[in-house]
Amino acid sequence: MNRVLVPLQMDGAMPLLGARVQQLDGQTMGTTWQVRWVGQGNGPQSQQAEAVRVAVQGVLDLVVAQMSTWLPGSDLDRFNRAGAGSRHVLPEAMADVLDAALWLAQVSGGAFNPAAGALVNAWGFGPSPRYTDPGFAPPDSEAVQLALARQDWRRLRWDRTKREAQQPGGLLLDFSAIAKGHAVDLVSRRLAAIGIGHTLVEVGGELRGQGLRPDGQPWWVDLETPPTCAGQAPLPTTRVALHGLCVATSGDYRRVYTHGGQRLPHTLDPRHGQPVSHGLASVSVVHTECLWADAWSTALTVLGVQDGLALARAHGVAALFVQREADGRFTETLSPAMEALAE
Ligand code: ADP
Ligand code: MG
Repeated sequence: MNRVLVPLQMDGAMPLLGARVQQLDGQTMGTTWQVRWVGQGNGPQSQQAEAVRVAVQGVLDLVVAQMSTWLPGSDLDRFNRAGAGSRHVLPEAMADVLDAALWLAQVSGGAFNPAAGALVNAWGFGPSPRYTDPGFAPPDSEAVQLALARQDWRRLRWDRTKREAQQPGGLLLDFSAIAKGHAVDLVSRRLAAIGIGHTLVEVGGELRGQGLRPDGQPWWVDLETPPTCAGQAPLPTTRVALHGLCVATSGDYRRVYTHGGQRLPHTLDPRHGQPVSHGLASVSVVHTECLWADAWSTALTVLGVQDGLALARAHGVAALFVQREADGRFTETLSPAMEALAE
C-alpha cells in the first residue's frame, strides 16, 4: 500500500463492540450493489438482514422508477418523451439530482451535461442501439451534429421551489453519471433511519461509508486502478478510510469500444460530441456525498487533467487523476483537497 487517505473529521460514533459485519448484495441499474453493515443478526436469513434487504431494494427501486433511461415509463423517460412546453413536477429524489446536475453543468462549462441523452444514444451507450449490437457503427459527423443540437441543458426551464421542469422539446435527460451516487446516499440514509448506522454501501463501484466496523476501524477501501499492461509496474495503491466519506471512480477502461483503432469510452465530451480521448485513465473523487463524488468524477474526466485540476482546486474537490502517458506509463495527480486527505 502506498497512500492512505483519512477523513479530516471523525463523527464521534462508537463502534458496536462484539457485533458482526453482515453483507447483502444484488443487482440494479445494469450493475451490482452490495451493502455491509454492523449488526446483531446471524446471516442473510436473519430478521435484520430481511429488514435491510427490504430497505435497500425499496430505495433502489425508487431511484430506477424515477431516473432510469432504460425503464419505459420512468419519470425521466416520460419527461424525455413529452411534448415541447409540457411541465413536469418531479419527484423529490429526481429533483435533487436535476438541481445538482444543472449546477455542475453550469460550473463545468457543459463538460458535465445531464441532457446529453441524444449524444449518449448516438454513440451506442443508451438502451438502443447498443455499441455491443452486431453491426453497430459509431455516428458520422452529421449524426453527431444532430445530437449536439438536442442537448442544450440551458433550454430546460427549472423551478426549484415548485420542483417543476419544462421540456423545451426534444431534450433527452440522462442521469447515468450521477443517479448511482445519489442512490448510494439514499440507501445509506434509509439504513441509518431504521437504526443501522455503521454501513458501507456500494452501487456499481461508487461507495459510501458511515460509522465504524466492530473493531473500531473505519471501512477501508482501495481505490480502483486502471489495469496495467504485462511487464508494467503496478500503480500505487490508494487506501481510503470511508468514515463519513464517499468515493467514486470514472474510468476509460470499462464500457469502451474501439473503432478504427480509436478508443471510444462511454464518457462523452458534450462540447464537441466525441468520446473523451485525452488519455485520462481514471479519476477518483472523495466527497461527503456520493452524488457529488459520482458527478464530479465524470465532469473531471471530461475536462482532463489540466482543466479538471483547475476546477477541482477552485471548488475544493478531492480528486486523484491517473493519466495514461504516450509511452503507456501512468502518472498520478492529486488536487489540493486530495493532498490534504493524504497527509
Ligand atoms: P463512470 O463510472 O465511468 O463515471 P458513469 O456510469 O458514472 O461512468 O457515467 C457514465 C454515463 O454517463 C454514460 O454511460 C452516459 O450515459 C453518461 N454520460 C456520458 N458523458 C457524460 C457527460 N459528459 N455528462 C453527463 N453524463 C454523461
Ligand atoms: Mg459518474
